[in-house]
Amino acid sequence: MTNTHSEVMAFIKEQDVRFVRLVFCDIFGQIKNISISADELDRAFSSGISFDASAVKGFLQVDESDLLLFPDASTLSILPWRPAQGRVVRFFCSIKRPDGTPFEGDGRSLLAETVQKAALLGYKFGVGPECEFYLFKLDEEGLPTYRPMDRGSYLDVAPLDKGENVRREICLTLEQMGFYTERSHHESGPGQHEIDFKYGSPLEAADNFITFKSVVKTIADRSGLFASFLPKPLAQESGSGLHINLSITHEGQQSKILEQQMTAGILNRINEISLFLNPLVNSYERLGCFEAPRYIGWGRANRSLLIRLPQTTGEYRRIEVRSADPACNPYLAITLLLNAALEGIQNHMVSDEEYIGSAYQKQCGKTLPPSLIDAIELAKNSEFVSSIIPKRLLEYFLEAKLADWRAYEDAGDKHLASRIPYFM
Ligand code: GLN
Ligand code: MG
Ligand code: MG
Ligand code: MG
Repeated sequence: MTNTHSEVMAFIKEQDVRFVRLVFCDIFGQIKNISISADELDRAFSSGISFDASAVKGFLQVDESDLLLFPDASTLSILPWRPAQGRVVRFFCSIKRPDGTPFEGDGRSLLAETVQKAALLGYKFGVGPECEFYLFKLDEEGLPTYRPMDRGSYLDVAPLDKGENVRREICLTLEQMGFYTERSHHESGPGQHEIDFKYGSPLEAADNFITFKSVVKTIADRSGLFASFLPKPLAQESGSGLHINLSITHEGQQSKILEQQMTAGILNRINEISLFLNPLVNSYERLGCFEAPRYIGWGRANRSLLIRLPQTTGEYRRIEVRSADPACNPYLAITLLLNAALEGIQNHMVSDEEYIGSAYQKQCGKTLPPSLIDAIELAKNSEFVSSIIPKRLLEYFLEAKLADWRAYEDAGDKHLASRIPYFM
């Protein structure tokens, strides 16, 4: 789409754009936005638009609360579900302090830095997220329930699959926003679905994932349903994963060695970074069954493992990291994965042999942290994590996650407490 400041301004005029949404994420990956009049956009590009950062969880304290949003012109997209006259568009933003310095709680800028660091070394990553979600019915008051919208299962067709129309609406809306949706289908759980869109640069992939969640939630809501991205909403059914496919080239060349070193690098750090890939109490209920990994290893066609090296060639050659879930902040999760991959490459790491057989049967060996508190401990003691995530962001994140864990421990009904919808 359009990408320079002047092209954007021309587009705004031609397309009768009335409102502009400036989008960013809090440190937990929750989408936030402020709407400005289209007439204010020029000023937003030059001087930024301020907001109260003390009211955003994990950002700043009341006594130093101003932050500024600067729209990234390359991320312009129409919001197709808003009126066609007096249109609404949105931009992803970078966040700065009033003195112009970057705000350390801005995961998007952090990811951009990592991509730049990799580029200086000649490496270029592609990232393709695959996201699963549940569609639940609403109650009489319009509030979400845990009653799935259908009884369908993997790749089922109508009438077992009652999601075909909603998925179609979601795909069409995403396409109007510039997405290339590759495939969509009913997933294993009742009311569980998956829609996959084309890979992109790391920043595009993270932005797209945020847009994706917001579109799925909006279209579901307009269809009288609730879309949940909770990793394990139903205890006896399949969880919802966020598989992160990663490809790499060095000076434009793919290589098996690079993929193996990248795999080794990620497996080496996966425990320390799990808190960021699986950030909820509920996340840990998903791991270890229904094709969600627990054992730390890799394989080719083996979906019980953490990393899968699919037998694809050319453009679609990649490794698939299967442990992350849709509750993660994609900017932080991808930043950590790429740094672990780079570490593997720079240190010529070699991983253990390919694991053969179902890893769920394996009782011993290296596994992911069994619960949120173990993941918190591992992240807190990790020099790798603190070398990448800015000090303050890390402190806020750890503090908030510890509070989540304590609230869970104090709750009478553990099952209910772990499924609190949160913003999922
Ligand atoms: N739902 C599984 C998970 O939690 C993945 C199943 C699949 O896509 N094959 O990761
Ligand atoms: Mg898939
Ligand atoms: Mg799937
Ligand atoms: Mg997959």
